[in-house]
Amino acid sequence: MSAPSLPKAFHVMAKPTGSICNLDCTYCYYLEKEKLYPGATPHRMSDEVLERFIRDYIATQPGPVVQFLWHGGEPTLLGLDYFRRIADFQAKYACGKTIENSLQTNGTRLDDAWCAFFAEHKYLIGLSIDGPRDLHDAYRPTKGGRGSFEQVMAGLALLKKHKVDFNTLSVVNDLTVKEPLRVYRFLREIGSGYIQFIPIVERANTDSSLPIPLSAPPEHGAAAGEVRMTKWSVPAAEYGKFLSVIFDEWVRRDVGRVFVQMFDTALASWVGVEPPLCVFRKTCGDGLALEFNGDLYSCDHYVYPRWKLGNIMNRSLGDMVADPAQREFGAKKQTTLPAQCRRCPVEFACHGECPKHRFMTTDDGEPGLNYLCPSYKHFFAHVDKPMKVMAELLRRERAPAEIMRLYRDNLPVTPASLDIPPRPPGRNDPCPCGSGRKFKQCHGA
Ligand code: SF4
Ligand code: SF4
Repeated sequence: MSAPSLPKAFHVMAKPTGSICNLDCTYCYYLEKEKLYPGATPHRMSDEVLERFIRDYIATQPGPVVQFLWHGGEPTLLGLDYFRRIADFQAKYACGKTIENSLQTNGTRLDDAWCAFFAEHKYLIGLSIDGPRDLHDAYRPTKGGRGSFEQVMAGLALLKKHKVDFNTLSVVNDLTVKEPLRVYRFLREIGSGYIQFIPIVERANTDSSLPIPLSAPPEHGAAAGEVRMTKWSVPAAEYGKFLSVIFDEWVRRDVGRVFVQMFDTALASWVGVEPPLCVFRKTCGDGLALEFNGDLYSCDHYVYPRWKLGNIMNRSLGDMVADPAQREFGAKKQTTLPAQCRRCPVEFACHGECPKHRFMTTDDGEPGLNYLCPSYKHFFAHVDKPMKVMAELLRRERAPAEIMRLYRDNLPVTPASLDIPPRPPGRNDPCPCGSGRKFKQCHGA
């Protein structure tokens, strides 16, 4: 019998502080994870576990570049010295590989010392910010119940001061979903290099005797029966409209200047390459989650006892990643896809999205339809024409940003329009230099 082989590449979201956080966000799916480890204090990855993880993770990555992703809870609660030790361990085990680090933070604890460290070690920072002050503060309070917007913006200013690369991660909830352009323009103005949206989909807990709230995902494809959503969840059809409104502004003025993960992901599907976002890939299984005590889980969205693969202190990381149970976990995303999805014209881009959200029934009464199905049907149909044009531009080895001139010149948004020469820009047209300014602003009155 041959040894199980590792997948081509995999990544591990490491949570060295477990679920512990200094904020008290209403919709945080990870705060409940404290219940997984009752009585375990502190929630802090020991140096022994940390070193083992860093050593094994570098050794099992097939390529010359190894990407670490530090997540939480709030990882900065571990203190800067902890991250200096991470840098030391990484240097000790790098073996000639290039080490890259990303860290997801709420930004409220950043200071000059943190930002200087991030700049020195070239960290990419993912900053959680939901939009302008009122929208951000609605669901992202401190433990004392006050809004966290000001602290986040102070952290952002420090990241900019130290020239640290940052992306933003914004939750789309029942409030933000109503204000797509206000959210998008705010993120664009604060200079987010890459905008990521996360729709909140959370079932309300109807049974308080359950040890873990109902946000525990269904088995792949299973239906949860009666569905009641939390107030802050995004309505099933609204997320797609939110994305479509933002797309319409982006495709006319921001292509190539502002990067939106959802649009990149869609374009990858239209081009026919694997999308960067796992939820729109055919299968799962290559993105695992590591808890503070060394327990490894199938996915960050499946940190529940049923999907624990083992502990890195007594089983090798490579072994667990290649475990048939993990491969089966990955394959089930596709094998449990309902017939309605298989017949769907946008299945090639959607793939039924994340199994965690598949708790509805199809029109034929089959379990396992994604809660966000109406949104994805709407959004992927909405972007079909411009995606075809941008995919064609890439095939011709031209920049997708060229699509903007079809809108400017009032041409049909079809690949055939790419053969029509551009008209000279008018004074009030966006300047073709890509600055985002009007032509007259770039070239004088
Ligand atoms: S379960 Fe969801 S989040 Fe996890 S790998 Fe699959 S699609 Fe991605
Ligand atoms: S849009 Fe709906 S029916 Fe189509 S693949 Fe996605 S979840 Fe399935």
